[in-house]
Amino acid sequence: MLSDEFAQRIRSAHPEALRLPEAAYASWDETITMIGGERIASGAFGMSRISRQVFHAHVRALAAQSANVRLIKRTVTKLPEQADLVVLADGAGSELRRARADRFGTSVSAGRTRYLWMSTPSVIEPCFLLKDLGPGPLVVHAYPHAADESTFRSAAPR
Ligand SMILES: Cc1cc2nc3c(=O)[nH]c(=O)nc-3n(C[C@H](O)[C@H](O)[C@H](O)COP(=O)(O)OP(=O)(O)OC[C@H]3O[C@@H](n4cnc5c(N)ncnc54)[C@H](O)[C@@H]3O)c2cc1C
Repeated sequence: MLSDEFAQRIRSAHPEALRLPEAAYASWDETITMIGGERIASGAFGMSRISRQVFHAHVRALAAQSANVRLIKRTVTKLPEQADLVVLADGAGSELRRARADRFGTSVSAGRTRYLWMSTPSVIEPCFLLKDLGPGPLVVHAYPHAADESTFRSAAPR
C-alpha cells in the first residue's frame, strides 16, 4: 500500500520502479470503518495497493537489467572481506545487525501489540474493524491488493 504522493516521489526519482500494468494495482474511493454497530464510510485518501510478490519480481527484473548489478540469491552469513561499501538490508529482525549491535548502536525491544498478516484469494471490501478489548483495541484492516487477492491483517495488544 502506498500513498499517491509517495508513489509520485518514487516515480520522479526512478520512473521505472512503479511502471507496472494498470491491472497490477488495486485502488478504490471509499473505506468502511466498523466500530460497535456503526458503519462509517470515508474517502480512501489517494492510496493504491500492489501485490508485494509482483512488486518484488518487478524490482528484481529491473535490477537484473542494470549493467553494474549482479543478483545472487543466497543467505548471507558473513560480510564480504573486501568491499568499499556494505549495505545491510535484511529486515527488522536483522541477524547481521544484531550481531554488530554494539558497533551500530542499535537495540530492539518487543512492544505490546501482536499482529497477524494474511493474504486471501478473494476480493474484500476495503475496511477497518475496531473493537475495544479492554487492554487495548483489536484492529482489523482488509483491502484488495490485486484483481483477485486481498490483504487481511489484525493487530491486538497481548
Ligand atoms: C503487516 C505489515 C504490513 C505492511 N504494510 C505495508 C504497506 O502497506 N506499505 C508499506 O509501504 N509498507 C508496509 N509495511 C512495511 C514494509 O513491509 C517494510 O517497511 C519493508 O518491507 C522493509 O523493507 P526492508 O527491505 O527493510 O526489509 P524486508 O522487506 O523485511 O526485507 C529483508 C529481506 O532480507 C532477507 N534476509 C534476511 N536475512 C538475510 C540473510 N542473512 N541473507 C540474505 N537475505 C536475508 C529476508 O528474507 C527479506 O527478504 C508493512 C509491514 C508489515 C509487518
